[in-house]
Amino acid sequence: MFPSTMMDLPLTIQNILWRVERLFYDKPLATYDEAGNATRSTYGELVRNANRLASALAKEGVRPGDRVATFGWNTQRHLECYFAIPCMGAVLHTLNVRLFSEQLEYIINHAEDKVIFCDRSVLPILESLADKIPTVQLVVLMNQGPEPTGKLKRTVDYFEFLASGDDQYPWPTLDERAAAAMCYTSGTTGNPKGVVYSHRSTMIHSLVAALPDAVDISESDVLMYAVPMFHANAWGLPYAAAMMGASQVFPDRYLDAERIVNILEKEQVTISAGVPTVWIPVLNLLDRTGKKLPALKKVLCGGSAAPPALIAGLRRHGIHLAHAWGMTETSPLCSLSRIRSTMDGWSEDRKLEVMAKQGVVVPTVEWRIVDLDSGKELPWDGKSFGELQVRGPYITGTYYNDPTASEKFMDGWLRTGDVATIDPLGYVQLVDRTKDLVKSGGEWISSVELENLIMAHPKVLEAAVVGLPHPRWQERPVAAVVPKSEHKGDLTAEELRAYLSDKVAKWWLPDEIVFVEAIPRTSVGKFAKSQLREQLKEIAERWAATATA
Ligand code: AMP
Repeated sequence: MFPSTMMDLPLTIQNILWRVERLFYDKPLATYDEAGNATRSTYGELVRNANRLASALAKEGVRPGDRVATFGWNTQRHLECYFAIPCMGAVLHTLNVRLFSEQLEYIINHAEDKVIFCDRSVLPILESLADKIPTVQLVVLMNQGPEPTGKLKRTVDYFEFLASGDDQYPWPTLDERAAAAMCYTSGTTGNPKGVVYSHRSTMIHSLVAALPDAVDISESDVLMYAVPMFHANAWGLPYAAAMMGASQVFPDRYLDAERIVNILEKEQVTISAGVPTVWIPVLNLLDRTGKKLPALKKVLCGGSAAPPALIAGLRRHGIHLAHAWGMTETSPLCSLSRIRSTMDGWSEDRKLEVMAKQGVVVPTVEWRIVDLDSGKELPWDGKSFGELQVRGPYITGTYYNDPTASEKFMDGWLRTGDVATIDPLGYVQLVDRTKDLVKSGGEWISSVELENLIMAHPKVLEAAVVGLPHPRWQERPVAAVVPKSEHKGDLTAEELRAYLSDKVAKWWLPDEIVFVEAIPRTSVGKFAKSQLREQLKEIAERWAATATA
């Protein structure tokens, strides 16, 4: 190799801290509480607290590589942990506060967390595990909520802990390949799997996320992520926003439409982010009240497919929905859908079709689709569908301490478990999760496509489609539908079936359409299809009974 003359400085999160301290110390941060009041601060204070926190952790005996967990919602304190922990060489492990206690126990023990920063509001959950998490030597209590009952070994208040640290912490020199953060995937089967992000992967992801054709974050932006800080590092946005010097607003745990709209309005938020189930009620509220959010340029939406009706609906209010795809394993941002300059003359309908796709792959990441049976790579023709596989410098190459990890990889590519097409312009469209595709009479039905169509009906708020076992067809689709509140009782299954009949092939029509109060959600706010399948299992039992009768 002919050597370059470039400096070999490591890409570490310390560089973001260096920037905010010197360039953006006066830029505001705001955290909202239950009453809708904001506590205001700056990046300057965040850096001072990060120094004290790192120093206090070092005095507590935390060493490079040790796992330090967080168990909390979106607050400035959480962001302070996002910086202090990785920048001192320890590993930030964000715990999902909505997990079942058995999963939580498994994850804390599997990661061998030493210290946990815990919001008081979720402290009772952690206390219920007190005698099952032996590696945890200290719990630091953040924000408001109940006080400890004495079940945990040792607890300390956040500010008391800060006070035990020094103002200036000598940040150590770090290897860019060292672990910075870890997050377990919220899989529905088997044990959760640990993804470990490095400093380098986090820095590259932040740079890519900030790009104009990606999330497009600049110093003048005000960012409010309605995606929890325990879900793939809030999609990497806290780091990307800090790197660019954008202001940040934290909604704590208050992610209902009223509160979100209130914060977006009050703080003049320019960019927000969240799963579709966050934005569907927001759109409904804007439609009902006629409220305007003129500052809001864009919402980044992913985690599950953004229905075209949502994209078009937000656009009526002047809000651009940037549809993105990613996974915990991919840091997560891999693709975004944008209208290209060459599409300017296209009709609005055609542009909407493009926006509803999951977009084109971002710089540094590569993808391909592979036949589900033969494993052969498929053409980018917009028709052939297969498993989407990705690789890149911020895509996980394995799982932490997991002997079954190899099943999820193929020749250096991550097998995403998503089924997709890629069109000749490179836009990916997700057909389904492999496990959610409905197989009827040997043919595939896309539950996502059916859901998108049903959610475009003006009386429908939300819909989810699942395949249920069928004695004759192997599986048949069933739709669970939540009507908009003003149409409860006046929307019928016949009306929906008639509406769908000229939009899909006859055999795609759901065998049953059931009206429900709400669709169950996963711990990160997506539709929980496995839970829904369980709820609807009586339908499959009825089908089976009729067949044998
Ligand atoms: P998680 O790691 O929990 O964020 O889940 C990742 C999975 O969410 C992906 O493998 C997809 O199945 C799904 N997902 C993420 N973004 C989208 C999107 N824009 N459209 C459809 N599914 C998505």
